[in-house]
Amino acid sequence: MAGKPRSGCEALRVVARCRPMSRREEAAGYERVLELDVKLGQVSIRNPRAAPGELPKTFTFDAVYDASSKQADLYDETVRPLIDSVLQGFNGTVFAYGQTGTGKTYTMQGAWAEPEKRGIIPSAFEHIFTHISRSQNQQYLVRASYLEIYQEEIRDLLGKDQSKKLELKENPETGVYIKDLSSFVTKNVKEIEHVMNLGSQTRSVGSTNMNEHSSRSHAIFLITIECSETGPDGEEHIRVGKLNLVDLAGSERQNKMGTHGERPKEASKINLSLSALGNVISALVDGRSTHIPYRDSKLTRLLQDSLGGNAKTIMVATLGPASHSYDESLSTLRFANRAKNIKNKPRVNEDPKDTLLREFQEEIIRLKAQLEKRGMLGKKRRRSSRRKKAMDGEGTVDNEGEDENEDGLEKNMENYLREQKERLEEEKAAIQDDHSLVSEEKQKLLREKEKMIEDLRKEQEATELLAIKYKAMESKLLIGGRTIVDHTNEQQKMLELRRQEIAEQKRREREMQQEMLLRDEETMELRETFTSLQQEVEIKTKKLKKVRTGTGAEMRMSLPRAGLRCCPLSQLYAKLQAVKAEIQDQHDEYIRVRQDLEEAQNEQTRELKLKYLIIENFIPPEEKNKIMNRLYFDGDEEQWKFQPLVPTGGSSSQMKRRPTSAVGYKRPISQYARVAMARRSHPRFR
Ligand code: ADP
Ligand code: MG
Repeated sequence: MAGKPRSGCEALRVVARCRPMSRREEAAGYERVLELDVKLGQVSIRNPRAAPGELPKTFTFDAVYDASSKQADLYDETVRPLIDSVLQGFNGTVFAYGQTGTGKTYTMQGAWAEPEKRGIIPSAFEHIFTHISRSQNQQYLVRASYLEIYQEEIRDLLGKDQSKKLELKENPETGVYIKDLSSFVTKNVKEIEHVMNLGSQTRSVGSTNMNEHSSRSHAIFLITIECSETGPDGEEHIRVGKLNLVDLAGSERQNKMGTHGERPKEASKINLSLSALGNVISALVDGRSTHIPYRDSKLTRLLQDSLGGNAKTIMVATLGPASHSYDESLSTLRFANRAKNIKNKPRVNEDPKDTLLREFQEEIIRLKAQLEKRGMLGKKRRRSSRRKKAMDGEGTVDNEGEDENEDGLEKNMENYLREQKERLEEEKAAIQDDHSLVSEEKQKLLREKEKMIEDLRKEQEATELLAIKYKAMESKLLIGGRTIVDHTNEQQKMLELRRQEIAEQKRREREMQQEMLLRDEETMELRETFTSLQQEVEIKTKKLKKVRTGTGAEMRMSLPRAGLRCCPLSQLYAKLQAVKAEIQDQHDEYIRVRQDLEEAQNEQTRELKLKYLIIENFIPPEEKNKIMNRLYFDGDEEQWKFQPLVPTGGSSSQMKRRPTSAVGYKRPISQYARVAMARRSHPRFR
């Protein structure tokens, strides 16, 4: 960790992965249109309807994974370094983008039951907790959230109330966050897997057809890792890394009317987040855009930091190999190719305000002090250390040690309270037996003792609760070798290390190969200019010579050069053809999108006309004006809202916020404003 830069500018890492041909595709006899060069990190796609002479299109990425690639290859080479960074306090995002059925979920989650088929998410769980268990002099707190964006509504997959739609909020210090999103502190792989499974179950329960649902919604698993460590200055510092693991909706073109009978309004929302993602990427790489339309969708607002901001980001573009997905595969490749040019500015998040870890530490200290005041902790320590000495020492798992501690604490408390109670009971009996006391006085003393016994019982309950809370909180703060222990043996560790070294080497090799390819092209261009300059010189010399001598000796010089030029020229010609084809494709795509937009606009204008007709004919104008005057657009929640009739204390903040909204629609709204809004929100508007 030491010596590594803590911030800097770095490009989004983009990798492509192609799944194997499915049985159905094989049976149907589809041709393969994708070729992957793993060593070079290139994908070539051939148009199955290509005109004679049309060349395949080639795209270069940070890495490519073919049908035979293992989950571990992708993890070790591409994802592991990112998770390491998150453990150091950087923000990180991995998202899978591609057509439905190309392997997004396989890449992100994989098949849980088979270890070698586990995807990025379960591998990251293992990685994170193994790292923590091997750490020294650090305290970690890991928590997880799970959410879904469906038709521009955010659903908390771990929340109690599934009908509740969550809102996005912005904090000037911490950025965009989701209000009331549940998060669970997890102590080990098992617990975080449990959280993940709970969320996945919730996700599938709400939908009649899971495949269809997942192809139309975005799932985001969020892990926050806080780490506290004493710095060289002797002070304790907290670093916070946030990891977004995103399984996006299928990128295929949605039918304008929705494939499943939605009304146009719903259909237009299905891929809104995805098209907004495309727009954000285009604006980011355009270089001329001053406005990046993050606010156009929930997904882009949520991933704002991951796209051009404070995060390290990986995009896995998933592809199908068969000819029937040519159009979608090409569109995915183009999308991924554009994303390569995004530059992020990741930095370590050190000592941010309001960390949960700090809260936990303070609470633990407070609880500890209270327990000590009740005489619980001092005795416990002695007892448990005695107990530890009594054990063999060999092969003791610390967790069990913790249990022993906890048992000790409870027993100790029980003993203490029992002693106290016995003492009080004895005193009570003594009072009863004391014949020297007057009956009234006796009763009074007895009542006092009974009250003391009752107080003691209450105290016992309170202490028990305190101890339970203390134990629970302490166990959640993860300390390598204490609250979390590494179970891998030396041999496994060596193997892991070796695998990581190989992955690193492969990555370096590919980078060098790509570098060489680039150099080759540059040399070719240089050579070309050189040849033409040379040619110019030659022609001029020739003329000169003709004037002077009139011999043909110069032919000997120019011939081999002409031969030299022949190769670059044909390559350049091929390049030119590829660029021409690209322009044609882009043009076709543009026309298609424009037609879509026009249709959507017509559709919405028609709907608008109907509503207008109803308003004009059935709502009295003064009522209409009253309503219109109270309406305003809340940019934060992206909704039209009514201003309250009587301004109250609570509403004044709402009124203050209104003019600052970035969307900034102000009352009264006109028919045209509505059309403009509908147009802005139409999907695939790039
Ligand atoms: P998506 O989430 O993009 O819709 P899935 O992850 O559900 O796609 O993958 C579709 C099918 O293809 C699944 O049956 C999955 O097991 C299989 N599959 C995807 N990628 C691979 C791969 N790299 N190797 C083997 N099978 C894969
Ligand atoms: Mg999926």
